[in-house]
Amino acid sequence: MLGNWLLCDLHIHTNLSDGRLPLEEVVDLYGTKGFDVISITDHILDSKTLEERQKKKEPIEAIKRDDFQNYLRLLWKEAQRAWGKYEMLLLPGAELSNNWKNYHILAIDIKEYIAPELSVERIVEHIHEHGAIAIAPHPYHKATEGKQTYIYLWNNHQKYAELFDAWEVANRDDLFNVIGLKKFNYVANSDFHKPWHIYSWKTLLRCEKNPEAIKTAIRENEAVSIYLFREEKRIKE
Ligand code: ZN
Ligand code: ZN
Repeated sequence: MLGNWLLCDLHIHTNLSDGRLPLEEVVDLYGTKGFDVISITDHILDSKTLEERQKKKEPIEAIKRDDFQNYLRLLWKEAQRAWGKYEMLLLPGAELSNNWKNYHILAIDIKEYIAPELSVERIVEHIHEHGAIAIAPHPYHKATEGKQTYIYLWNNHQKYAELFDAWEVANRDDLFNVIGLKKFNYVANSDFHKPWHIYSWKTLLRCEKNPEAIKTAIRENEAVSIYLFREEKRIKE
């Protein structure tokens, strides 16, 4: 808690997908650093990318459809522990990752499996049907050679501007000031995969610490701010 602002990170991966740390360690890390709200958002992958990885015998690094309910149960259990031990709210989430078509979508407070191969409109519709929040992460607006940059959402940002509850104005160390300039709703997240990613841009929300208040604050996007969390110098391993 910073003044009466809640310190939030709504984009976090664990080793249930491609993050390095186990879920419990992630919760303990954020809990001991004094975070108020986190969302665990492990990847759900589109079926084509999944098939490819299976064919090449690469690690899957994603939550499979059949494992989704189990994933949610794990998150609910950790949410109880996080609240009991740290008074930290854990919102179950997922990053619906369509690597085939180049878009990722964060679903915060997700309750049911959503297939990433659906269109952006259908995915967001499903997210909203469940009362969850849809965030457009890392809105890269330039393709960097040799790097997958998930440029699809930004390429279509005029069409999708109002569709999402918020866009990431910052993702880890990257700032996307175009989002701010265009006055889109915004949040800032670490896209946490490794321990030192915690030292990065975060969201501050001024509201009560419960899921409905958090979601309303993101949707209304009035009592919101971004914050560079740098409690100590960046530590590598
Ligand atoms: Zn992503
Ligand atoms: Zn991510």
